[in-house]
Amino acid sequence: MKKRILILGGGTGGTMTANRLRRRYGEDEAEIHVVDRDDRHVYQPGLLFVPFGLTQLEEIVRSRRRQLRGGIEFHESEIESVELDAEAVRLADGKLLPYDVLVVSTGARLQPEETEGLTGPGWNERVFTFYTPEGAAALQEALARFDGGRLVVNLVDMPIKCPVAPLEFAFLADWHLRERGIRSRTELVYATPLDGAFTKPVASANLAGLLVEKDVKLVTEFNAGEVDGVGGKLVSYDGRKLDFDLLVTIPLHGGAAYVERSPGLGDALGFVPADKQTLQSSAAPNVFALGDATDLPTSKAGSVTHFEAEVLAENVQRFLSGRELDAGYDGHANCFIESGFHKALLIDFNYETEPLPGHFPGALGLPLLRESRLNHLGKLFFQWIYWHALLPGREIPGIGPEMPARGKRQFQEATR
Ligand SMILES: Cc1cc2nc3c(=O)[nH]c(=O)nc-3n(C[C@H](O)[C@H](O)[C@H](O)COP(=O)(O)OP(=O)(O)OC[C@H]3O[C@@H](n4cnc5c(N)ncnc54)[C@H](O)[C@@H]3O)c2cc1C
Repeated sequence: MKKRILILGGGTGGTMTANRLRRRYGEDEAEIHVVDRDDRHVYQPGLLFVPFGLTQLEEIVRSRRRQLRGGIEFHESEIESVELDAEAVRLADGKLLPYDVLVVSTGARLQPEETEGLTGPGWNERVFTFYTPEGAAALQEALARFDGGRLVVNLVDMPIKCPVAPLEFAFLADWHLRERGIRSRTELVYATPLDGAFTKPVASANLAGLLVEKDVKLVTEFNAGEVDGVGGKLVSYDGRKLDFDLLVTIPLHGGAAYVERSPGLGDALGFVPADKQTLQSSAAPNVFALGDATDLPTSKAGSVTHFEAEVLAENVQRFLSGRELDAGYDGHANCFIESGFHKALLIDFNYETEPLPGHFPGALGLPLLRESRLNHLGKLFFQWIYWHALLPGREIPGIGPEMPARGKRQFQEATR
């Protein structure tokens, strides 16, 4: 009998998964449905460049529908809830969509309203986030008007999407302000709740060195509790105050709101617990999750979502044919870190292994943990790969869910 696969979220993970599964199943074998609230697929890594005028929104937004292969049914609607017992999903208009397998890929939700004062007076005037298309566009205008003063970049708390993006913003701001000749009259501050520049100790030391080099003041263990957008003050829970003329915030993140309305599906933050290696959720055997929506101890990143999608598509097929699941996802993540002046770093890691020096994906590849022009070109080219290879669900030779050991000498030595 024809199986019914229902995918919640038509972003990075949902689109890749739908297209991969459509390639695996004929239309007479499986129906594939995707639900998303709108038809705007945003290439989110591009949001970093919008505030600096290096790209515009129209260059990074495309129709979601048009990223899906023929034979996939797209439902443009808000999701109301998942009814695990009935094996069905309720949409906002009351429609009920039944499923044999459910894939949760509704990402993470920004919650700026959870921080006192953040969205009060001054929001989108003196206080901005580049994590939304509208916020990134508003910040572009504000930065163009900015004529010096104190610019504070703050991430309120982890987890956030792309944990390196706020650092990249600070590096690019340094470059942008130098190009405009106003760096000497701008103080750049990077305030983080972490005890260093980043979550991973080796990369953290490396990135803290870059902050020093670029004269960006690092303020650690700063847990932002309150924002006064008119007075220009960011206040931590322990009473420390940071004055700002312009605040760039990365707000709190949680899971999608419908997860909280779906008993048994998610945790207290609205993220969906899933097996670290198979991506099967603990809610029910026929529910899988990937991307930013999960509670997995890896970065919330597009690269992670891509690697997970490969294992997840395989496991949906194995599940439907009653075979043992593939435990093939090792937490593999990689991120380009744009550092300004046409350079970028690249880090590659997994659940067990810290970012290491060397090359990716092999000895002749891109340099790891080191600034280079090649990495910057890689970051720019990545947008093309995203639309033309990753989203359509094509295989990329040598790049997959298992972190490559080749090219990383220390790793090879440690595991010999
Ligand atoms: C500024 C920025 C820079 C980034 N840079 C990088 C980078 O350089 N490298 C990298 O690897 N990653 C980067 N990322 C992270 C990357 O974009 C995400 O990790 C990735 O998109 C996650 O995919 P996803 O499918 O889990 O979620 P998304 O792609 O966010 O998709 C979730 C979808 O679910 C839909 N949805 C949610 N709730 C509902 C609902 N209730 N009803 C209907 N639809 C719903 C949303 O509309 C959305 O389309 C960046 C992110 C940001 C914000």
